[in-house]
Amino acid sequence: MTATAELAALADDLDRRFAGLDLPGRLAALAEAVPEGLVFTTSFGLEDQVLTDAIVAAGVPIAFATLDTGRLFPETYALWAETERHWGIRVRGRVPAAGAVEDLIAADGIDGFLRSRQARHACCGVRKLEPLGRALAGARGWVTGLRADQSEARAAVAFVGVDAARGLLKANPLADWSRAAIVDHAARRAVPINPLHARGFLSIGCAPCTRAVAPGEPERAGRWWWESDEARECGLHVDGAGRLVRGGAPTQNPPHEGATP
Ligand code: SF4
Repeated sequence: MTATAELAALADDLDRRFAGLDLPGRLAALAEAVPEGLVFTTSFGLEDQVLTDAIVAAGVPIAFATLDTGRLFPETYALWAETERHWGIRVRGRVPAAGAVEDLIAADGIDGFLRSRQARHACCGVRKLEPLGRALAGARGWVTGLRADQSEARAAVAFVGVDAARGLLKANPLADWSRAAIVDHAARRAVPINPLHARGFLSIGCAPCTRAVAPGEPERAGRWWWESDEARECGLHVDGAGRLVRGGAPTQNPPHEGATP
């Protein structure tokens, strides 16, 4: 069996098992299958804070990383520090390459991402994608806080899949959680969260590219709101053809929010 086929078989097995496990069980199963080289990329959003809490509580060897784009909200930087204090962890920040940022600003201007989708993708490429590559270099598995009901584009998020381009396992232990379950869990566990959530920022990214949403708006409507494409993503979770990595619907499996700690 090739390494790729082995990875796919491992992902399929874990994907099936996750369906019957609660969150601590999923993290334990993942750590057992991939004992080293697991990296969780957090943006300190609600889901990521709940997942951080669960990872620390489970005591599983998963490293924490974040992408410091240089354009984050002050509240996000404050939460980064509070997160490290609260759980006694270090979240390794990955910053963009200085020369690439200088070139980007020289070519497009400081807020050049507003000019066109191409310019926006260029900015996300420099400030997010390239640092993500370094955050995941040498990793065997990538853990994220993606949920299937965050947007139509994310409805196909699987529990566990393969990021073929990066050659690693991608695990989304919260794939079948609803936002209400996340909010409830965060409150019950007194998880530190971004104060911007209470001001209508349901999904929080870079400050100039995020706005609050009105009641009833989709939770990711405030991200790159000036673009018309409903499937707006920054590129972290899509392949070269713009498809979400990876397909496979968690709706095939019953939700297990009730079994969470
Ligand atoms: S979200 Fe906005 S500021 Fe952040 S990297 Fe993407 S385009 Fe640039």
